[in-house]
Amino acid sequence: MSRVYNFSAGPSCLPEEVLRECAAEMMDFNGTGQSVMEMSHRSAAFKPIIEDAEKMVRKLMNVPDNYKVLFLQGGGSTQFAMVALNLGNKKGKAAYIETGVWAKKAAAEAKNLGVAVDVIASSKDKNYSYIPRVEKITGDYDYAYICLNNTIMGTHYEYIPDTGDIPLVADISSCILSEPLDVSRFGLLFAGAQKNLAPAGVTLVIIREDLITETPRAGTPTMLSYKTHADADSMYNTPPCYTIYVLDKVMHWIEKNGGAEGMLRLNREKADFLYDYLDKSDFYHATAEKGSRSLMNVPFLTKETDAEKADAINKKFVKEAAAAGLVNLAGHRLVGGMRASIYNAMTLDGVKALVSFMEKFAKENA
Ligand SMILES: *Cc1c(COP(=O)(O)O)cnc(C)c1O
Repeated sequence: MSRVYNFSAGPSCLPEEVLRECAAEMMDFNGTGQSVMEMSHRSAAFKPIIEDAEKMVRKLMNVPDNYKVLFLQGGGSTQFAMVALNLGNKKGKAAYIETGVWAKKAAAEAKNLGVAVDVIASSKDKNYSYIPRVEKITGDYDYAYICLNNTIMGTHYEYIPDTGDIPLVADISSCILSEPLDVSRFGLLFAGAQKNLAPAGVTLVIIREDLITETPRAGTPTMLSYKTHADADSMYNTPPCYTIYVLDKVMHWIEKNGGAEGMLRLNREKADFLYDYLDKSDFYHATAEKGSRSLMNVPFLTKETDAEKADAINKKFVKEAAAAGLVNLAGHRLVGGMRASIYNAMTLDGVKALVSFMEKFAKENA
């Protein structure tokens, strides 16, 4: 068996230990004679799995008692609508900070659903290569919205805006449990699982109880109301059972490796190793500005300025890297170049292998 180092932005690599456990339990989970994929979500065998997954999320993220933890479907993208439908119904007005594609999509969805959207800051002027500094958000808003880690642009907030009484909503799809986070600063957090938690299929929502409203915006489908899912403990309809099972295993893996603090130590070490190399290289450079850099997603370009030549060299890089067992390094079309996503499950050895390859490639193509 030969495993590659997978730098995909999502779905992305999972801890090998977790994959082995899943494989070992595939034919017979816990003496049931079935895999977790096959069993009823209402069965006695599955119930402890979802309960443990919630318990572990609460423990690792230090979730206060007045917050609900929900396991939903529809990915991060469905949350763009759910946030607007459920939270945007008092004043009908919300503040968004525009830091790239995902924040823009969220704002567009809110607007589309009739919420008056104020884009109170943007980093569009420099192709979203930095996070605008908005220390304080005030105004007549139902909520304020940020995307904490910008997967495509490779940027990350190094501060949390102070919103006073305005509930702060954050998309943490690509940085959840990569670092400690003070949940009590937020009204709602959400994350699609396929970056740092599990395979695709489950979306984790952490919502302060007072924000679970009886009256979402008119016409909100039952399935898009947080109350539906909160009242039923995420069992209103069939939850993505197998994904929740893997998520639970990933939670235990994170705990064994030092929890959110342990992840941050490992992620800093990996990201520093890569950014240090990029910053001293005369062949490559990182696109995100210092002070706004993501520990999870690292887009980089070569210093070739001619667009056609740059395109050819990027393609060569991605192809040769794949042949060397380093896969999914193509950059997003909006940034170009390459992108290494180095989520929790990427090892330091993987990042070192990448940097060795980059050194060799730079020498051969200088
Ligand atoms: C991947 C991603 C999304 C979209 O997630 P889906 O689960 O594909 O809908 C949203 N926000 C961020 C920050 C992401 O990285």
